[in-house]
Amino acid sequence: MSLVDSHGRKIDYVRLAVTDRCNLRCAYCMPSQGIDFVPRKDLLSYEEMLRMLKIFQTLGVKKLRITGGEPLVRKGLIDFLAKVNDQVFDGFHLTTNATLTEPHIPELLKAGLKSVNISIDTLNRQQFKEITRRDELEPVLRSIDQFYDNDIPIKLNMVVMKGINEDAILPMAHMAQHRAIGVRYLEEMPFNGTDEIKPGYFTYRDIEDILATQFPDLKKMAYERTSTSQNYKVKDWKGDLGIIASYSRTFCGTCNRLRITPTGQLNTCLYGGSVLDIRKLLRNGSSDKEIGQHIQTAVANKPKDGFEAERLRIDRITESMAAIGG
Ligand code: SAM
Ligand code: SF4
Ligand code: SF4
Repeated sequence: MSLVDSHGRKIDYVRLAVTDRCNLRCAYCMPSQGIDFVPRKDLLSYEEMLRMLKIFQTLGVKKLRITGGEPLVRKGLIDFLAKVNDQVFDGFHLTTNATLTEPHIPELLKAGLKSVNISIDTLNRQQFKEITRRDELEPVLRSIDQFYDNDIPIKLNMVVMKGINEDAILPMAHMAQHRAIGVRYLEEMPFNGTDEIKPGYFTYRDIEDILATQFPDLKKMAYERTSTSQNYKVKDWKGDLGIIASYSRTFCGTCNRLRITPTGQLNTCLYGGSVLDIRKLLRNGSSDKEIGQHIQTAVANKPKDGFEAERLRIDRITESMAAIGG
């Protein structure tokens, strides 16, 4: 069985947000007081998540990313991941702020960690504190070193914000100079837990211009199918640089992903909102086969791209990426 949408795209990648809670308060993601975190009873339990992932696996999903909120703040996460590794998928990928990972790296490796995407918007302690509203840069840097020493592929995600951290673009790039690390520059999106829409986001073109000015020998790499990143090489550097046009949405044609929120809502597009309440089905006695059929129908209707999804949604985008799963 497989999941194919009406635009012929094969969907084989699930991003599961295990919590909407987080120990940081990144300004582009949530307000300083946090968002209205969902009550615990509304979160999918680990048993429910395991059952749901098995259903996705029978539908042909091959790749799992664990995200949030901050995944590591949910208790029991690593035992759950070990079960997923034993019973469902061969390993998992993780998106994390890496403030809490350092003591858990051996367990994460044992539970099947295949790669890690780490959010880090600057290498300057004061600037990190201003952006995340927490003074936690040091453990993030230590975690990066340790993941690297354990041969875990690393991508560093930096949200580029006009007037806030442009000066961090160059120092971040140098993280890819001597080590095989991917530095990814992300366009800021309107998912910040408020209905405040800031004008003048930095687009991928602005970021590319800055990189091209800094690195005259910057070379565009071939575009990898289903990747959302346009990557670049600087001569003789071990790692690479990339730009993710999440706001300009230039990669929708090959999109192969689904998102599941911490409350079990299926989002077939980041910009679209929930299209299926999987939690309700898991709790109302539906069989795995019935749930699978609902998922197939929802996926068949996946919007062509993020613009269509945004047009079709009834409400305005006000949620936080922590509630959707970045
Ligand atoms: N807490 C983890 C982390 O920060 O990596 C996982 C969840 S976080 C929501 C996932 C990704 O979404 C991060 O790389 C973060 O930078 C990105 N993100 C959150 N809000 C965003 C926004 N408004 N625009 C662009 N990226 C955003
Ligand atoms: Fe937390 Fe990640 Fe959102 Fe930052 S981007 S507040 S680390 S969920
Ligand atoms: Fe896929 Fe929607 Fe993101 Fe486009 S905007 S890449 S369709 S999730």
